[in-house]
Amino acid sequence: MKLTCCHTLVIGSGAAGLHAAVQLRRRGIDTLIVTEGLRKGTSINTGSDKQTYYKLGLCGAEPDSVFAMAAALSAAGGMHGDLAVAEAAGSVQAFAHLVSLGVPFPHDDYGQFPGYKTDHDPARRATSSGPYTSRDMCTALLREVRRLGVPIHERRSVTSLLVSGSGSRRRACGALALAASGGWQAYRAENVVFAVGGFGGLYAASAYPACQLGGIGLAFRAGAAGRNLPDSQYGLASVRPRWNVSGSYMQVVPRLISTASDGCSDEREFLLDACAEPAQAYSLLFLKGYQWPFEARRADAGSSWIDRMVYDEREVKGRRVFLDYRRNPAGFHFDALSEEARGYLARSGATGRTPLARLLKLNPGAVAFYRERGVDLAGQPLEIALCAQHNNGGLAASLWWESVNLAHLFPVGEVNGSHGVGRPGGAALNAGQVGGMRAAEFIAARYAGATLADDAFAASWVSTLEAERAFAARCRCSGWSWRACRHEFQQRMSRYGAHLRHAAALERAVAEAQAQVRRLEREGCRAAGPLELIKAFENRQLCTAHAGYLSALAYSVRSGVGSRGSSLVMDEQGAKVPEDPAFRAQVLETRCSKGHGFRHRWQPCRPLPAAEFWFETAWEAFRRGAIPAQT
Ligand SMILES: Cc1cc2nc3c(=O)[nH]c(=O)nc-3n(C[C@H](O)[C@H](O)[C@H](O)COP(=O)(O)OP(=O)(O)OC[C@H]3O[C@@H](n4cnc5c(N)ncnc54)[C@H](O)[C@@H]3O)c2cc1C
Repeated sequence: MKLTCCHTLVIGSGAAGLHAAVQLRRRGIDTLIVTEGLRKGTSINTGSDKQTYYKLGLCGAEPDSVFAMAAALSAAGGMHGDLAVAEAAGSVQAFAHLVSLGVPFPHDDYGQFPGYKTDHDPARRATSSGPYTSRDMCTALLREVRRLGVPIHERRSVTSLLVSGSGSRRRACGALALAASGGWQAYRAENVVFAVGGFGGLYAASAYPACQLGGIGLAFRAGAAGRNLPDSQYGLASVRPRWNVSGSYMQVVPRLISTASDGCSDEREFLLDACAEPAQAYSLLFLKGYQWPFEARRADAGSSWIDRMVYDEREVKGRRVFLDYRRNPAGFHFDALSEEARGYLARSGATGRTPLARLLKLNPGAVAFYRERGVDLAGQPLEIALCAQHNNGGLAASLWWESVNLAHLFPVGEVNGSHGVGRPGGAALNAGQVGGMRAAEFIAARYAGATLADDAFAASWVSTLEAERAFAARCRCSGWSWRACRHEFQQRMSRYGAHLRHAAALERAVAEAQAQVRRLEREGCRAAGPLELIKAFENRQLCTAHAGYLSALAYSVRSGVGSRGSSLVMDEQGAKVPEDPAFRAQVLETRCSKGHGFRHRWQPCRPLPAAEFWFETAWEAFRRGAIPAQT
């Protein structure tokens, strides 16, 4: 067992973790990054048609303000107003920082950054450096991390957070990791910045890159509270490779076909089974391009009807679903499309005879993307599914991104549940940058000293390592394969914990999930060799996380929240349960209790702050060091 000491440990090397490390190091904090790998995670591996960053408007004569942007961030409800203001205000600094590091966000001759409208965005605040904005961010941030000389420990999987103290004095004090080569490594740290990303490994149908599993279960196991776990985003994505089929992929109106489970026999264009009017179905398909996430309010007569149809084919009828760009769908007539679809395609010159011809005109890069990954859209259909893509909720943290109940733990990036029911596209990348900046500012101002006692740390890592070794020993003789164990909770999440929620089925799923957690603790799952042992530890935290998510979902359905955001709640008769808008003014907090159960409670959203915002008083508070605030 090796022991490494640093002042602040950053776990994860996505866009959020890298930025936190840069900001900490620049403030003179001895920082170390531990990560599964610099090429792992969502930021460096994913993208979309035009991957979006959301920031304050910085172009033209359209007025914008911090409060107007904060109002847009929190408009769908379920978001604390002060966090929305912090993310809106911080967007200017975070965005300018990325520009200064060389992320190629487009600007004009005057230095203005023109924006476009993204979903849930009233004001053209969105910008993009192309399909790989988050990768461009990581590349630039990693250059800076290296220039600043921040040490990086790669090929390490954190298996537990280390915690010392009890009651309200509990605090994070490091982490225990398993190296891919097999050895244990303990990290002793005053502060832990937790940047492990979103819940990619929880669902069978997932748009996340396969190497992004997420680590929120580690924090639940350490007792950190979650917030808004039921609020996530689901949408249509290709299965191999995993990629959102948004934007032009849908706007060119491909054929939507399903087949038997062999992927070729019994081919059918299933949209027309439920909609006698082809032009109507294809106009909705066009809209999926920029109404990408599944939305309950569009589920009956709007574009999310398409998502439901795809889901039914796959999950209810057991068939496979594909987009086919080689031919037009049955009954397709360009002139019969909605005015919006026709106008858009005509103005773009994308009026070719086949979906492929239209796609090549509208976005040739979209065709090249799949060709480079072995899928020739001119020769074969593309398999798709309704997939989990983003968790708006996550860990509950303060205005300075510190966990609300585990001191010295700073969740940043997608693992931080700062968002509410919905969010403007691009707000995730911005929240990750702002979170790292604010956590670093707070740590440098309040937590830069040494407060961790040697004996408290020693007690924590010795007992945690003992527990890890006992689990590893159980895994070595377990008869349950890690794959079977993972398959079980991923299937449960996709079936009961995704966009479609039934009260009774969810209650059963919660009981089954808790039984799986107990079985995994008792038996472990089979692991031969160090790499499989890492899989077993991943399963342990993912399994805990899935029990927490399902429990929160069931509680929210039981509370009567109804259908909202990306979730459709159905009653026993199969009818849609309408939203109760009263819950928009609340957030759901979740805590893991001893024995792997979860407790939940609704709390009122803090409103947008109503301070005077007077320069002289803000300056005075700033000079005397009152900012960052104590809590
Ligand atoms: C298909 C798709 C399209 C998207 N498009 C957009 C968009 O247009 N705009 C937008 O704002 N957002 C978008 N998002 C969301 C956004 O990309 C992510 O929220 C963001 O990149 C997450 O960054 P992160 O740094 O928090 O986590 P990640 O980039 O996922 O990084 C997590 C890091 O933690 C490491 N890690 C995890 N567990 C452990 C462990 N146990 N031990 C050690 N290391 C660990 C991982 O290896 C990785 O290095 C999209 C997401 C997807 C999937």
